[in-house]
Amino acid sequence: MTDLPNKADFAHVRDWVFDLDNTLYPHHIDLFAQIDQNMTAYVSALLGLSREDARALQKQYYYDHGTTLNGLMIHHKIDPADFLEKAHAINYGVLSEDLSLGEAIQALPGRKFIFTNGSVKHAEMAARALGIFHHFDDVFDIVAAEYVPKPAGATYDKFMALHRVDTKHAVMFEDLPRNLLVPKTLGMKTVLLTPRDENHEFVDAWEKRTDDDRHIDYMTSDLVGFLNALL
Ligand SMILES: [Mg+2]
Repeated sequence: MTDLPNKADFAHVRDWVFDLDNTLYPHHIDLFAQIDQNMTAYVSALLGLSREDARALQKQYYYDHGTTLNGLMIHHKIDPADFLEKAHAINYGVLSEDLSLGEAIQALPGRKFIFTNGSVKHAEMAARALGIFHHFDDVFDIVAAEYVPKPAGATYDKFMALHRVDTKHAVMFEDLPRNLLVPKTLGMKTVLLTPRDENHEFVDAWEKRTDDDRHIDYMTSDLVGFLNALL
């Protein structure tokens, strides 16, 4: 479903902040599934666990600590650079150039940022494959966040301070509802990207929308259509 935006709601926006995975490319591309498998293999090799046990632990860390990486750093003192390199050793060929998205982003008035729990390299590879990388002013990644992932408030503070973002004049686009809680309290507009197929099997139950969506201003499964409606 798509809520078309009220243009007046975005007339004050000067900074456009986008999550990367499942936001700048659609959920059904399933790029994250490749990263997910690499993370399972990493945990399995690190701890000598079966694939099944490794996957359970990976998801537990994701749930408890925001990212699998954060859990592995806390409990096993791993080298984050090594983990990020291995996790993102994926085939970006599943992404294709999205000219209409590039045009829509370019037409937005103000600065544009990618704010991701992944790495700069991953964001750059994905955004280049989409043909949109050159439209962004900067990428704020998990390294810049000192490995503290969204939805931690401190990480949003770091990002906003680094780029002097006035949150009252900014909007955040995200596919995870919990990552929009802090932006909303900071006074940002919030837009939730939803899968085209709401029942997509790889949407973990706890990532699904809840009844309490007051922190979500708009929902759309069509980012280009949404952005074009603002022009
Ligand atoms: Mg995402």
